[in-house]
Amino acid sequence: MSKTPQNATTRISTFVLLIIFLTLALSLTALILATTFFGQDNKIIAGYLLLIGFIGVALSTYVLFQIRKRVLRLRIELPPIVTTIECRKCGFKIVREFQRGDYIFKKGELCQKCNENMLITAIYREVKEKEKTAP
Ligand SMILES: [Zn+2]
Repeated sequence: MSKTPQNATTRISTFVLLIIFLTLALSLTALILATTFFGQDNKIIAGYLLLIGFIGVALSTYVLFQIRKRVLRLRIELPPIVTTIECRKCGFKIVREFQRGDYIFKKGELCQKCNENMLITAIYREVKEKEKTAP
């Protein structure tokens, strides 16, 4: 369903991240080189390297922040999957985050009220709608 586009974006962002870190590393080397050229009185080369380094650092941090913002938004938009566990005996109900290995009618933990084995009765994505006042 919505799995393919999500995978695609993560793959693209890892590729972009690699390029960003490469740019960052190159710009930092340019900055370090600039200081050594300054020491050797090569002020023009040092100035160019300084400029390249600063532009590189600024660009890569800017792009990094943009990606972070987008990733955070993606994470917020995706509602969590929850598992409902019910006690067959007393009707006690727990709703918790989905864990790997959960399936419907799987025996869950012991009931907090009557110490009976509980049963997973539902697994669903929690869609948060605008809260309505109960009729
Ligand atoms: Zn119970």
